[in-house]
Amino acid sequence: MSEISATGSAAGEPARHPLSMETLVSLCASRGFIYPSSEIYSGIAGFWDYGPLGVELKNNLKAAWWQRVVRERDDVVGIDSAIVSHPRVWEASGHVEHFSDPMVDCRTCKRRFRADQISDEPCSVTKKKGSVQDCDLTEARDFNLMLQTHVGASVEASSEAYLRPETCQPIFTGFKRVREASRSKVPFGIAQIGKAFRNEITPRNFTFRSREFEQAEMEFFCHPSEREKWFESWREARMSFHRAIGFTEANVRFREHAQDELAHYARAAEDVEFLFPFGWQEIEGVHDRGDWDLTRHSEFSGKNLIVTDEETKERYTPMVIETSMGVDRTCLALLVNGYTEEEVQGEKRNVMRLTPELAPIKAAVLPLSKKLSEPARGLYQDLARRMNVFYDESGNIGRRYRRQDEVGTPFCLTWDFDSAEDGCVTIRERDSMSQERVSADSVLNYLRDRLEAAS
Ligand code: ATP
Repeated sequence: MSEISATGSAAGEPARHPLSMETLVSLCASRGFIYPSSEIYSGIAGFWDYGPLGVELKNNLKAAWWQRVVRERDDVVGIDSAIVSHPRVWEASGHVEHFSDPMVDCRTCKRRFRADQISDEPCSVTKKKGSVQDCDLTEARDFNLMLQTHVGASVEASSEAYLRPETCQPIFTGFKRVREASRSKVPFGIAQIGKAFRNEITPRNFTFRSREFEQAEMEFFCHPSEREKWFESWREARMSFHRAIGFTEANVRFREHAQDELAHYARAAEDVEFLFPFGWQEIEGVHDRGDWDLTRHSEFSGKNLIVTDEETKERYTPMVIETSMGVDRTCLALLVNGYTEEEVQGEKRNVMRLTPELAPIKAAVLPLSKKLSEPARGLYQDLARRMNVFYDESGNIGRRYRRQDEVGTPFCLTWDFDSAEDGCVTIRERDSMSQERVSADSVLNYLRDRLEAAS
């Protein structure tokens, strides 16, 4: 049964492979993590679909975030708001006026580029055709990144609306309602996970820059005298989250925004950056947004969004500390972080080292022979009520282990010819490849303990 001795003479420290994006993109498509949306029509730029494993990974990441940011805290509540808001919301937030990138068009190749990225996005089409024709660029002009739609039957100016470019604005517009309904008192936070849309000029680097993506955002409302304290506290909390999901000092760091990078309303901002194959890039922002959003929505809606301190009777507009994580970018970072190639007994082994908490499949049930499928299926069905498990009876056992290693399954349970006699299954652990016999009756508890210990 074993591809390596039962004592688990594992390959020790995994050899880190200089991963190319091509390798990752192809693995993601072939194993059903992520593939182009509308693939049979050659895809649509900036849109991606998550397959059977991708949706589990993404849901596990969102659940881990929700658990730590909302459920484990008594000072944060969650919401789930609509994607389309009243168009005035985006005027108040400044998106209609300011949410744009400078863009240039090339008259030769007819492509459009972000003016600030023109040096790393040369007019390659033009050059491939023969570099006699140089780029002929227009002056830069602003291009609003919000995706527009029309609400209702008529297509006219009054029916125009936007798909939200960030999930936080409905948190601000719902601030009074949520605070009163949940009887929360400042300081407290409101969190949500949901889709956001940006008509990015040059979507690229796989899901990194997409036109439809998900954000996990938390807006924390505090007294003006406490904004530094809460900024620091959330900064630390977010880094410890990124460590808990498996990132290390070597591939995750903070980068402070320079004064000239700050949004016009922001007092301070730091990006959590991950080291992708294409360099250090932002996966999350921690921002001090001041009282900009509540003040603007108060002005534009005419509704009072001020709070009163019950003890001092002071009336003030709370300051906002925001944490804004890109779910898709973090999933991509998890796949980059997890991907490992190593050699075991002269053979290449690909392992996706995801933490058990995030692994799409927690355990695979593998009967050694198809003759053993009945009891193995029984075990699978028992476990399936409690966690995402997978059943596989096709191919030799070594190949089945490898398939699970490649997609990050932490445990494989093998039902063999002795199992009926001794009531035990062999549990093989993904990283060390060590194996142990465990009674089939206690497999569920064993897995729970191991999964819990690892999270
Ligand atoms: P960038 O400078 O890379 O465009 P941003 O600073 O505009 O990002 P924010 O507005 O702070 O990003 O959004 C918060 C988070 O949302 C980002 O850290 C990122 O993880 C995610 N995000 C933003 N834009 C995209 C996108 N086009 N595709 C995927 N995720 C995105």
